[in-house]
Order: sequence, then structure tokens, then C-alpha cells
Amino acid sequence: MSPSNPSDRRESQPLRPTTKVLTQGFDPTLSVGSARPAVFRSSTYVFPTPEAAERAFDISSGRAQISEGEGTDLIYSRFNHPNAQILQDQIVNLEADATAALAFNSGTAAIMTSLLTFLRPGQSVVYTIPIYGGTQHFIQDHLEKWGITGIPVFGWRGDLIASAIASAPNLGAVLLETPANPTLIMTDIREVCANVGALKIAKGETRPLVMVDNTMLGPAFQHPLSLGADLVMYSGTKYLSGLSDMLAGVVLAKDASLIKKIAPKRSLFGTILQPDECWMLTGRLPTVELRMNRQSKNAQRIAEELAEHPKAERVYYPTLFSDPDQKRIYRAQCDHPGAMFSLELKGGKAAAFDFLRHLQIAMNAVSLGGVETLACHPKTTTHSGFTEEEFAQAGVTDGLVRVSVGIEHWRDLLSDFEQALDAI
Ligand SMILES: *Cc1c(COP(=O)(O)O)cnc(C)c1O
Repeated sequence: MSPSNPSDRRESQPLRPTTKVLTQGFDPTLSVGSARPAVFRSSTYVFPTPEAAERAFDISSGRAQISEGEGTDLIYSRFNHPNAQILQDQIVNLEADATAALAFNSGTAAIMTSLLTFLRPGQSVVYTIPIYGGTQHFIQDHLEKWGITGIPVFGWRGDLIASAIASAPNLGAVLLETPANPTLIMTDIREVCANVGALKIAKGETRPLVMVDNTMLGPAFQHPLSLGADLVMYSGTKYLSGLSDMLAGVVLAKDASLIKKIAPKRSLFGTILQPDECWMLTGRLPTVELRMNRQSKNAQRIAEELAEHPKAERVYYPTLFSDPDQKRIYRAQCDHPGAMFSLELKGGKAAAFDFLRHLQIAMNAVSLGGVETLACHPKTTTHSGFTEEEFAQAGVTDGLVRVSVGIEHWRDLLSDFEQALDAI
């Protein structure tokens, strides 16, 4: 749907993501002229001739190369289907510097499929902690058993990350999650990419990939591909879909050949997102930036007010960071602070539970990124698998409550938090 005469538009002004996502990557003629995509729920696709079927299988299995101008024929929906294609073509518009994307049936499936594509037995993967529990579980309890060594490093210790990258045996990938849950610890993506770029690579070996879980601030406020990362990964269950009503995952890259390598593994594992969910997520994309901006503004207003409250020991939020290095990373790397904050309450677990019990607008639930405000107690829920040492390192205390701020009016939310604090 590019303008009929591109010179009508002011020359050389590239379109911005919010415009591109509404005007590029969807061809209405392939959906009988419908202005918004149709849903194609079929599990299998009809070939015009047996020769076309043979050709489609030759191309999809890699026995033949697709020629210029030849469309890939659809075969079977575990491999590919029109709604995944539409979603992928649309979401690349939102991620700065992305040229290709893949849709998955959860964030965990996206991370798992990517790691299994690029890592081999005998290799190692350096990853920041704290990291999403499922990701840590997959690396520690699954990849380790398949001969891949996981090397956890504190996300705020750039020096330790640099030495782990330099010394890791057969480093295959570096996986960052920034900011990290629940205290919003940030890692300098550009610095990590520079450290990986500085590694001496033997002939015939490939450079380790830098993968960033961008769920918390992307695609609106943080742009890892522009900072040198190879893959950006999302739990689409969170801000991308935004209504807490579906599971999804996405992987994007600047170098489309990386995405081409992951796609056959997605076909094999069956981790593609189903057509209905692809259609739902596609419809949410034009409002991601609107929602995230409103959520971030709300969160900032509330977090900064609550930081003054006598019952709050401490509020974790990027604009309230005190560590100079964390402040520096936040300023350099993030356009806005985002919609997550954590509240350290005086009075430990009893106070945290009292607070959660008395909330009237915010709901006591895990997950994040939806338009409705959610609050949870990380120590007994999302992070309950941690050891005592990990609790201490990650700042997950008895009195910590994590909040994901939605799009309600911030004054109503603030009153709700204040009355719940008063009830402790
Ligand atoms: C939720 C989440 C995941 C896992 O995503 P699912 O869609 O639940 O599989 C991974 N990383 C982060 C940062 C998350 O918040």
C-alpha cells in the first residue's frame, strides 16, 4: 500500500513506525480487498498442480532456491500461514532496524526455538540475571543436560559480563534481558555488543549472537537492533497484545538470514502462532505505542508519588534510580521509563499481602503489560523458585510488590494504592 507516486510525499523522509504499521506490510488484494486482514484458518493449502506441490516442497526443504519474483507456496500451517506472514510483515515496521520477524505461540517458545537453532552441545551461553524464570529454567535445567553450559552474570555488572564474554568456552550466544524483573536492573546493550564484536573469531567459526529479550520496553522505548544486537525477542503476551487475553512470542532481526535459520526449527517444533492469535495480535500493533506511552506516563506519575509515601521503604523505577551507572544506561538506552515499578514496603510479607488484599482497582495477578493494572508479590509467585542467595542478589525481599500499570486514570490508581497502603 505504498503511495501511488512516492514523490508526492516529501522526499527522503522515512515514515515513522506508527505510520508504517498502518500502511505497510499488508496487501488488501490478498484479503479480497478487505481493509483489515482476513483470518485464514486452514491447516493445509491446495496446489494448482502436482508440479507446484513438488516445487513448494523442494523450496521449503532447502533442496531448491526460490527464484526472483517467485512467491513461496503455502503448504501446511505448522510451517507457515497467511496470518503469520501478515503479522510478521507488519511487526517489522515497529522494531527499529528490523527486516524480518517470526511469530511464535508464546514468548518462551520464541526464546527456546531461537536458542535451540543457534546453540550446539559443547558451546556456552552467557546470560544476565535476574532473567525471566522460564528462560532461566530452560537454560539451567534443559540446555545443561544437552551439553550446553549456561553462564549466569549479574545484569548490572558490565565488568563481569565483559569478562564472562572474553573467557566463556565456545561461546555461542549472549542473552540479555533488560530491564530485568522485578527491580528493573539495566544492562548496557551497546557495550555488550562491542565486547562480543571484539572477540577474535577463528577461521570457519561464527561470531556469538547477541539476543535481547525486549519485552519490558520494546518496541516503543528501547531499540536493541540499533545498538548492535542480532536478535530481539518478545513475549507478545505482554505489551504487544496488551489486553491479557492471549499468549504470543516474536523474534526479529536486522539480518534476515538469521530469521531464515530459525524458521525451519519453528516448523519442526510446531511453535508457530495460530491464525486467530496472529490476527488478534496484528490488530493490536497500531496501538502498542499509544498504550505504552499512556502506561509509562501513568507509572511515572504514580511511582514518583509513592516514593514519598511513609509506608514505602523504596520504589524501584528508572526515573528514581540512584546508582550512577544505572542512570547512565537508562538515559542512553531508553526513550521512556516504562510501566513497571516495584514497591518495597515497610513491614515485610504481612505488609505486602495486606497491600495486595486491599487493592480495589489493581488486580492481584502475575503477568504484565496489559491495559489493566496488575500487582503481585514476586517472592511467593513469579520468583518463588529462587534460592535464598538469588533472592538477596535480585533484591526480591519479603516486602516487595511488583506493579504493572495500565491505562486507567492515574489519579484513580494513585488513590487505590494510597488507600491500600493506609490499610496496612
Ligand atoms: C512473560 C515473559 C516471558 C515469557 O513469555 P510467555 O509469553 O509467557 O511465554 C519472557 N520474558 C519476559 C521478560 C517476560 O515478561
